[in-house]
Amino acid sequence: MHVFGHISDLQGFLSAQNKIIGFVPTMGALHTGHVSLIKEAKAQSGLVVCSIFVNPTQFNDKKDLERYPRTFEADAALLREAGCDVLFAPSVEEMYPEVDTRKFDFGFLDRTLDGAFRPGHFNGVAQIVSKLFEAVKPHKAFFGQKDYQQVLVVKELVKQLKMQVEIIPCPILRDPDGLAMSSRNVLLTKEEREQAAAIPKLMQEAKAMFNGRNAAEVKKHVENRIASIPLFKPDYFEIRNAEDLSEFDPAKDRQAIALIAVFCGRIRLIDNLLLQ
Ligand code: AMP
Repeated sequence: MHVFGHISDLQGFLSAQNKIIGFVPTMGALHTGHVSLIKEAKAQSGLVVCSIFVNPTQFNDKKDLERYPRTFEADAALLREAGCDVLFAPSVEEMYPEVDTRKFDFGFLDRTLDGAFRPGHFNGVAQIVSKLFEAVKPHKAFFGQKDYQQVLVVKELVKQLKMQVEIIPCPILRDPDGLAMSSRNVLLTKEEREQAAAIPKLMQEAKAMFNGRNAAEVKKHVENRIASIPLFKPDYFEIRNAEDLSEFDPAKDRQAIALIAVFCGRIRLIDNLLLQ
């Protein structure tokens, strides 16, 4: 596996390859969920590039940025084992030689759910993803559906910037008890981790209860259940149109999705599940 920290070195290497480039951007602290993206990228491209960069501009909470786990050596070993060809691990100075003042407009997508609860988050995501796409120039980029709203934002970004990259959403990988894998899970205490297992259970309950017309009833039920779990502090639980995250309209929308963001102790966790 080739490891680069500078864009010029990365591009020098990549420009000599004549292969379909599959790209997996990450913030490190890699787990099996990330590895599944690498595997999918390998299956669909000739050369796999993974980036590890904890992007400061997408953290609306400074404490979250400070405590974000950093495990570079273990990450590199995992990537090597997964068959990743290139690891790009730039410094903050490399990605932001000057302050990025760009303001993107994603309309409703940036004002709802995580857009509303994490002001500036998706703007920061758009800044770094556009810079990484510019550096790597991938043919395909692989993103986890765990960050469902992020996938929609990135698709919109690529459209707005007219970038020639195919965005490929990949399924959520889960622990045996159903909790969506996340780099932040290692920060949970034993008790928090036990209670966090309620999240996928609630999502399954919502799916079982949803009949296409009773979104408000399901929302009430799940909100009551969240309130009964001592360590949980919810940001939101919503049932939306899976296509664009607008209010779900049973008369015209084909697919509903349940989305949740909840603090378990100090750690904010998200999950989602397609309904019906
Ligand atoms: P992160 O390092 O958290 O920024 O995630 C990097 C990529 O991995 C994003 O596209 C995430 O959606 C994806 N990812 C994170 N957790 C999972 C998971 N449990 N299953 C599948 N993909 C994931």
